Amino acid sequence: MLQAARSVPTRETYDELQVAYSHFNARLFDGALPDCLITLQREKSTCGYFSAKRFARADGETTDEIALNPSYFAAVPLVETMQTLVHEMVHLWQHHYGAPGRVRYHNEEWAAKMEGIGLMPSSTGRPGGKRTGDKMSDYAVEGGPFLLACAELLTLSFNISWYDRFPAVEHVRFGESSLSAALPAAVGGGAAPLASHALLAGVMHASVSAAQDGAAGVAAANKSNRTKYVCGCRSAVWGKPGLVIRCGVCDEAFEPQ
Ligand SMILES: [Zn+2]
Ligand SMILES: [Zn+2]
Repeated sequence: MLQAARSVPTRETYDELQVAYSHFNARLFDGALPDCLITLQREKSTCGYFSAKRFARADGETTDEIALNPSYFAAVPLVETMQTLVHEMVHLWQHHYGAPGRVRYHNEEWAAKMEGIGLMPSSTGRPGGKRTGDKMSDYAVEGGPFLLACAELLTLSFNISWYDRFPAVEHVRFGESSLSAALPAAVGGGAAPLASHALLAGVMHASVSAAQDGAAGVAAANKSNRTKYVCGCRSAVWGKPGLVIRCGVCDEAFEPQ
């Protein structure tokens, strides 16, 4: 008799993140990146960050940190969380094999590596943005190595199972706008103003255009079930089930419909 699958959330979550890291390391970096310690941090208005040699062990060994913000897990399509991970992996690559700029600066070497693996650096997260700078975003290039590797990962029925149920409403709107940009047909009546994304894009490592670029496999994988939530002033947001969100305008809770 089969034993009932018992969920161990910590192991499940970090195993999934490691699977993604190893997959992209193999596909986009020829497996050259050393492993690191992936952490979950709710750092304000950033989807992720890289910190070189952040952790040490008693024997003198150090390892880098890549932090991901779980507030966005429920809000953005999975492909965008993967995009954040790979963005930080390029920082890790540059730390080991290149010449990083001063802290926070994304220099031309970083930009060229990003472009080489199919993520176009852009200060706005859209075509036409600046290529280098302190606050940088990126968007996935159609047919590029990143989207191909991502589609391959998602066909392995990869998922990030656990998500933060208490995102700020901005997180949800952020993801909603990206979803509507990516999947116009799938978001019945749920079109959110793209401005909210544009507004936030400058401080975030994420973009909206991955699925928009036509990677059907990735787009299909983004059609995770979404619930409609409505607040006292009748504004609506769409997000994963079970979220607890408060409206910044009427200060009432968004209730699932
Ligand atoms: Zn960065
Ligand atoms: Zn409201």
